[in-house]
Amino acid sequence: MEKKTHVMCANLVSICLMKPDGISDLLITCGFATLGGLVPDVDLKDSTSDKLFDRLMTSLITIVLMSFVIKYFFDIDLYYKIKECSYINYLISICLFIVMAFLGSKSSHRSFTHSILGLFVYSTILSYGFGMNVIIPYFVSHLSHIFLDLFNKKGIALFYPSKYRFCLNLCESNGKVNKFLFILFSILIIFVLVFLGFGINI
Ligand SMILES: [Zn+2]
Repeated sequence: MEKKTHVMCANLVSICLMKPDGISDLLITCGFATLGGLVPDVDLKDSTSDKLFDRLMTSLITIVLMSFVIKYFFDIDLYYKIKECSYINYLISICLFIVMAFLGSKSSHRSFTHSILGLFVYSTILSYGFGMNVIIPYFVSHLSHIFLDLFNKKGIALFYPSKYRFCLNLCESNGKVNKFLFILFSILIIFVLVFLGFGINI
């Protein structure tokens, strides 16, 4: 699937699971859901996607800067919401995550980052510096990415380092099913936000 479809699916699953209570919870849930939805594809090598690692790093820096802006203007302390460990754990976790994302970008497409091993490695690194508010949306989003990619024609090395690739061979990653799912997930996100009120109440 395309990145935008993964992001929508990740956000939908995470919002439904976390039921964010207020804007700050919603921002944290969506931020880490988006990260989990995108990180597996740091291993893409085509011309339009090989900058994903750079974009992810830029996004991470933007998120940190935005958290200061949100704190300053809206008095919403996102760091306080996610902090369960010390600043040292927090920094080690971010640095390790960046290193593993970089190594993931060097692995072959749909291997380590799309495997059960990769899922637990990235989630464990984040859990070292952040709390459950972050790990659950990240974990289910990364998992949803792997699940959606199983439907594609190109297989994924689910049990990496085993090279055996699994796929259901049902659709193209950028075909009609992908477009349909993107629209469906987008509509469902609007539905859960507007009609169920998740994250709307401050
Ligand atoms: Zn993928």
